[in-house]
Amino acid sequence: MASTRQIHVGSVPVGGGAPVAVQTMTKTETANLQATMAQIRTVADAGADIVRVAVPREQDVEALKTIVATSPIPVIADIHFNHTLALKAIEAGAHCVRLNPGNIGGPEKVAEVIALAKQRGTPLRVGVNSGSLPKHLRQLEYDNPVEALVTAAIETVQLMERLGFEDFKVSMKSTSVPNTIASNRMLSQKVPYPLHLGVTEAGTKWSGSLKSAVGLGTLLADGIGDTIRISLSTFHAEEEVKVAWEILKALKLRERGPDLIACPTCGRLQFDMDSVVAEVERRLEAYEDPIEVSVLGCAVNGIGEARHADFGITGAKDMGMIYSKGEPLKKVPTEQLVDELFKEIDRYYAAGKTVQRDEAAAADARAWLAENEDATAMTPERIAALEAAAGTQPEGLGQEDADADAVLSSMLSHAAGDEREPAAVALDEADSPVAGRRFSRS
Ligand code: SF4
Repeated sequence: MASTRQIHVGSVPVGGGAPVAVQTMTKTETANLQATMAQIRTVADAGADIVRVAVPREQDVEALKTIVATSPIPVIADIHFNHTLALKAIEAGAHCVRLNPGNIGGPEKVAEVIALAKQRGTPLRVGVNSGSLPKHLRQLEYDNPVEALVTAAIETVQLMERLGFEDFKVSMKSTSVPNTIASNRMLSQKVPYPLHLGVTEAGTKWSGSLKSAVGLGTLLADGIGDTIRISLSTFHAEEEVKVAWEILKALKLRERGPDLIACPTCGRLQFDMDSVVAEVERRLEAYEDPIEVSVLGCAVNGIGEARHADFGITGAKDMGMIYSKGEPLKKVPTEQLVDELFKEIDRYYAAGKTVQRDEAAAADARAWLAENEDATAMTPERIAALEAAAGTQPEGLGQEDADADAVLSSMLSHAAGDEREPAAVALDEADSPVAGRRFSRS
């Protein structure tokens, strides 16, 4: 269940229907102002909405004042064990303080931090980690780790409420993907507060990204989760931000920059598509607009699945083609495909987002496509032509046949590029758990 309460971390709304915020954490020594600010600017440029910095020492909390004053995005101070540092972080103007109330020295010290947070209007992120649950939950953790995590989180929430404090978000961190999913699903049914999601110590860029995509993606698709952090073993915090964005973009929860579609390649490929895709991806980083760009390895299936792409290329041994929205634009030598693709994209923007079409060049490209398509392949265009030629449904179909025919028709209309969704899989946006949360923050 989606959270209903909203808090503000600096200028960023979190929870209560706000777009899912992307967080990361600096990997520098916080007191090293030059390195920390450089990393904060890098992650902000990569799309981080909020950044967290570790504050384990006095010199870090000193540096925090300057960091908060100069950071382009809100800053969360990450505190463990030391309530004095938490108090100083609030005084330093941190936009939020992350702490685990179970490890900062007892209820009186928690109350002291909460009193100051209330006075200064500073929200907190409170939470529990699977590795540091309170002693009384150790046996439960052994028997049922999910229930133990949720119980610990609820005890923390109750403590906040007893102290009259509701300006917080909650996190439960586990290294286990199934436990992350199960515990957040359970907690989201029990509390209205925003949830921060992450798979802790997820691992390397490769495995950690996948674990996070599965764990966080599953929850986000259910409408659960208000901020996300991808924990990767890399010194480059911007990599975490990029992965977070790819997850949000894949779920169509937020948009940022172009979307690159590329075929997986197969034995029909006749050019170095690996390098071409990498080059297209690199050059697309310079664009902020969420255009869709496709790279197909061959023309066997015509423009196929890429027919909705704003721009695309399909290659062959010597010659390739540039297309836009399913229509050929021009054919060009394979080695010039990438340059010419970007010339077309730039012309499109220069003309106020209007595709510039030269009819003679387009006709030339269409002829090339017809020559290079597989004459036996069931392209969407051919399926549409066959459908049109087939005429009406034969009489005397039984119910099963009629059902099968309906499914086939639905598949055919999809393959033919029919915009209508088949009724059996139609998604009602209003009923979607993520309804209303799409694209509302750039
Ligand atoms: S577009 Fe061509 S090269 Fe790419 S996977 Fe399909 S058939 Fe293979």
